[in-house]
Amino acid sequence: GEPSAVSVRITPLPDGVSVAEFQDISELHRVERVRRDFVANISHELKTPVGAMQILSEALKDAAEDPDAAARFADRIRSESKRMNHLVTDLLELSRLQGAEKLPDPEPVEVDRIVMEAFDQTRIAAEEKGIELRLTGIEDTEVLGNEAQLVTAVKNLVGNAISYSPENTTVEVETSVASPTGHLAGVKMVCIAVRDQGIGIPAEELDRIFERFYRVDAARSRQTGGTGLGLAIVKHVAVNHGGRVEVSSMPDAGSVFTLMLPARSLPSDATAPDSAEI
Ligand code: ADP
Repeated sequence: GEPSAVSVRITPLPDGVSVAEFQDISELHRVERVRRDFVANISHELKTPVGAMQILSEALKDAAEDPDAAARFADRIRSESKRMNHLVTDLLELSRLQGAEKLPDPEPVEVDRIVMEAFDQTRIAAEEKGIELRLTGIEDTEVLGNEAQLVTAVKNLVGNAISYSPENTTVEVETSVASPTGHLAGVKMVCIAVRDQGIGIPAEELDRIFERFYRVDAARSRQTGGTGLGLAIVKHVAVNHGGRVEVSSMPDAGSVFTLMLPARSLPSDATAPDSAEI
C-alpha cells in the first residue's frame, strides 16, 4: 500500500508557544497520483493516433504516383482520426459525468426505449459480425433519469458485448425488476442485463475493468476501436442515477453486465394504503 504521510503546520503564538497541526495527506497523495496517471494516459492515447497520422500523411505525399497506396493511406488517416474523435468524445462525456453532482432534470424514461435506441446505435457493428441483438423481459417499465446518459451507458455495454464476441453469436438484453440486498435493500430496482457469448473476462480482472483506461487486452481493445473509457462512463451513469453496475463472466463462455437503476415509483405506490380504504 501507500506509505502514510503527514503534513505539519506550525503556528507560533504570541506567548512563545507553538501549535503543531498534523494532517494525514496520504489520501491527497493518492488522489494526486491517480490524476497524474490519468493525464499521462490521455496524453499517450492521443499521441498514438496523432503519430500515426503524421507518418501516414508523409506516406500519402510520397504515394502520388500510386493511387491505390494513396487511397489506403487516406483510409487509415480517416480511421485514426475517427479513433481520436471517439476518444475525445468519451473523455468529454466522462468529465461531464464526473463533474455532475446530481442529474440535470431527471424525467421518466421508458426502459425499452433506452434499449432500442442503444440497439440502433450499435446495429451496424452487430450486422458486420452477424450478431443478433435481442431484447427480452418485462415491458412498460420506467426509470427516473436522464435519457441521453442512460442510452450512452446501455450503448457502451452492448457495443462491448459485440466487440468482445465472435461472429454469429447473440447479444441479449434482458430487463427485469428486482429487490436487491445490501445498501440498496428496500429499493425496487430495474435491471438491464446485457449478456454475450464472447471471450469473457478472467476473474482476477473483474474489479479493475471499470477503471479509466484499464483493458484486459489493450491491443485487442484498440483494434476494435475501444477507448478504455466505456465502462468508467457506465459506472458513473449508474452512480449518478442512484444505481450500480455488476458483472459476472466466464472466460471463453461470455459475460453479463447488469445495470441496476432505482425503479420509478409508480403513482399507485404513492397512494397511501389508508386512503384506499376510504
Ligand atoms: P474498451 O474501450 O477497451 O472496450 P471499456 O472500459 O469499455 O473499454 O472496457 C474495459 C475492458 O473490459 C475492455 O478493454 C475489455 O478487456 C473488457 N471488457 C469489457 N466488456 C467486455 C465484454 N463484454 N466481454 C469481454 N471483455 C470485456
